[in-house]
Amino acid sequence: MRPVYLPRTIAELWKCLTENPRALLYAGGTDLLVNMRNGNIDPPALICLERLAELKGVEESPDTVRVGACTTLADLLYHPLMQKHFPVLIKSLQVLGSPLIRQMGTIGGNICNASPAGDTLPPLYVLQAEVELKSAGARRTLPIAEFICGLRQTKLQPGEIVSAIILQKSPEYNIHHFEKVGLRKSLACSIVSLAALLNVSPEGIIESARLAWGSIGPAVVTSKACEELLIGKKLNAATLATAAAKIRQEVSPIDDVRADAAYRRDVCGNLLLRLAKEATS
Ligand SMILES: Cc1cc2nc3c(=O)[nH]c(=O)nc-3n(C[C@H](O)[C@H](O)[C@H](O)COP(=O)(O)OP(=O)(O)OC[C@H]3O[C@@H](n4cnc5c(N)ncnc54)[C@H](O)[C@@H]3O)c2cc1C
Repeated sequence: MRPVYLPRTIAELWKCLTENPRALLYAGGTDLLVNMRNGNIDPPALICLERLAELKGVEESPDTVRVGACTTLADLLYHPLMQKHFPVLIKSLQVLGSPLIRQMGTIGGNICNASPAGDTLPPLYVLQAEVELKSAGARRTLPIAEFICGLRQTKLQPGEIVSAIILQKSPEYNIHHFEKVGLRKSLACSIVSLAALLNVSPEGIIESARLAWGSIGPAVVTSKACEELLIGKKLNAATLATAAAKIRQEVSPIDDVRADAAYRRDVCGNLLLRLAKEATS
C-alpha cells in the first residue's frame, strides 16, 4: 500500500517531506494521478497539499497580487481581483480543461507540471510572474521563465514547494489577449496558444508589447524581435503580418501526436494576425 499524507499545517508538511524524501506532492491531482494511472510514475508515497489553507487564496497589495499555489483554477477564474487586473490569465482559464478540471486543478500544479501545453503559462510569461518557492526555513523567488527550465523540468529542489505566484499589476496594458488552437473547442490540449499584452495609444499606435506562445517548443516561446517589430507601429493587419512572418522564421516547433511542426509554424503566425480584432474592440 502506498501511503498518502494529508498535512493540515505547513509545519506538518515539512515534517512529512523530511520523513518521506521520495514522496511526490500533489494538489488537485489532475496531472499527477493521471500520470500514475498511466504507469509513467510509481512514487513510494504521496503528499497532498489540498488541505493547506495557507497555500490558497488571492491577496492584493498596492502593486502586486499574490496567488497561493493551491488556489484552484475555478477560484481564480471567478475572482474579481484577477478579473480586474489579469484578463489575459482569465481568458486562458476560460478555455482550460472543463469546469470539473478547473474545480480540481490548481495554478501551482499547472506551473509545476511544466507542460508545453499548460494554458496558464503563456499568460504568466507575459505578466512576468514570479514563482515563490518555500522549504523548511527558506524562501526564494524566481521569474517563471527561469523556474521552468525545459520540457516538464523546473528548478524545484528536493524538500521545496511552490507556495505562491506573484503578479505585478500592469495597468498600462490596455489589450489582454489569449487564444488557443486545439483539436476541438473544449477539453482539448493546446496545439498552439498565444498570450499578448499590448499598450495601444488612442491613435492606434503600439507603445509596448509582450508576446508568449505555448505548445510550440519544449517551453513557452517569447520573441524580443517580434515585440520590437510591433512597437511604434499602428495595430493593423499589415503590422501583424510582418510580425507573423518573423515568428514563423524564428521558431523550431515540435512535432507530436497532435500536430506537425509545419502546421504549428503557420498557426503561431496566424494567431498574431488575430490581434487585428483587438484594434477595434
Ligand atoms: C481531462 C483533462 C483535461 C485537461 N485539460 C487541460 C487544459 O486544457 N489545459 C491545461 O493547461 N491543462 C489541462 N489539464 C492538466 C491539468 O488539469 C492542469 O495542468 C492542472 O492545473 C494541474 O493542477 P493540479 O493541482 O491538478 O496538479 P497536480 O496533478 O496535483 O500536480 C501536477 C504536478 O505539479 C506538482 N505540484 C503541484 N502543486 C505543487 C506545489 N504547490 N509545489 C510543488 N509541486 C507541485 C506535482 O508534484 C505534479 O508533479 C487537463 C487534465 C485532464 C485530466
